[in-house]
Amino acid sequence: MKERHLLLAGCGHAHLDLLALFVRGIPHGWRVTLVVPQPDFHYSGMLPVIMAGAVPPSAADIPVERIAAEAGINVQLASVAALDVAGRAVTLDDGRLLAFDLLSLDVGSVAAATDIRGARTHAWTMRPFTSALALLQRLDGVIATGQPRDIVPVAVVGGGAAGVEIALALRARIARAGLTPRVTMIDSQMRDGLPLPGFSPAFRRRAADALISRCVQLRGAGVQEVTDANVVLDDHAATLVPSVATAWVTGAAPHPWLTASGLPCDARGFPLASEKLTLTDDASIFGAGDCITLRGHSQTPKAGVHAVRMAPVLAANVYAVMQGRAPTAAYHPPRSFLALLSTSDGAALLRWQRVALEARWAQHLKTWIDARYLHRYRMLAPP
Ligand SMILES: Cc1cc2nc3c(=O)[nH]c(=O)nc-3n(C[C@H](O)[C@H](O)[C@H](O)COP(=O)(O)OP(=O)(O)OC[C@H]3O[C@@H](n4cnc5c(N)ncnc54)[C@H](O)[C@@H]3O)c2cc1C
Repeated sequence: MKERHLLLAGCGHAHLDLLALFVRGIPHGWRVTLVVPQPDFHYSGMLPVIMAGAVPPSAADIPVERIAAEAGINVQLASVAALDVAGRAVTLDDGRLLAFDLLSLDVGSVAAATDIRGARTHAWTMRPFTSALALLQRLDGVIATGQPRDIVPVAVVGGGAAGVEIALALRARIARAGLTPRVTMIDSQMRDGLPLPGFSPAFRRRAADALISRCVQLRGAGVQEVTDANVVLDDHAATLVPSVATAWVTGAAPHPWLTASGLPCDARGFPLASEKLTLTDDASIFGAGDCITLRGHSQTPKAGVHAVRMAPVLAANVYAVMQGRAPTAAYHPPRSFLALLSTSDGAALLRWQRVALEARWAQHLKTWIDARYLHRYRMLAPP
């Protein structure tokens, strides 16, 4: 019988459980290929501590290439650039064509609104990880030439959960170097003065207090342009917000090639997945994490917690199809989940159901959760 081919596109949180399953064995009659741009996956929960300068960038790494090798998976270091659904093939960014019998997508998302003038050239997105590191390199260059207590202005565009964490982390990095941070967080949805649109009013107020007490300025305005030294707001005065390093943390947008694939998509262009995480009726394409929207849940935020919880469902269903069974596991997003946002000075903001607080123990809890997560997958391919 002809060997069939499972293609795994990307490996973020949602594919790790599938890799773990394959370390125990790939179903008979199948070969598996993993297409990833880099040999390591960078766990985004660790990004704030890295941005703050508390740990080195390697602290976020999960060695997916080595785990895949452990499982006997063929790894292609490349990015998917196009998907032909009817032809069951993907095109890689180096032009190669890879055919598949079964495809699973975990390619995450890209930053939204990067078409604003100057954003691509003068601001840094947090994904890919190399872009976040490039922002730090730029900031460290400025810090290195500064004198003690010099003011270092930075702007963070985006007032969501990641924006709050990055603003506080950059503030901590500058202060750690003995200079004076002047951090401005900008978001057009923050016109009521509160960050975290979509969260409960109590948590939004907590976050605003945390930011303001640490001298982060909140600007409820849109951005019309980013330059080398400023962010230009879209208010009447075209106010200039000084910034030597602008972080672009504007939320998730779909990969254009996924929207263009012809798969049914939501209004934003994310492919729609069933609760079994299938994207096609014949269950030949699966997807999980930020790159898909669950049917009937278009308001569910793109958050790592969903990608993590989809991972075992995706693994069970892809494995079932490989064994000739129908997928039966289903993902039902929780109505509320634990949110922990690091303040980068020893505390964290916590939201759990109706509880909204800031505490040092919340940061200890976050550190423990992150360490446990990393350990669980790193041990699949011990150094
Ligand atoms: C600073 C920051 C902090 C965050 N903190 C939290 C948090 O504390 N809690 C939380 O719930 N969420 C958090 N998030 C959101 C969270 O990071 C995402 O929701 C989560 O990473 C989604 O996981 P994923 O598996 O879908 O995709 P990702 O983790 O983004 O992984 C996708 C993978 O696919 C690869 N890839 C990308 N494009 C291609 C391509 N074309 N071809 C092949 N491979 C590709 C990438 O290299 C990447 O490894 C944070 C986000 C940021 C930016």
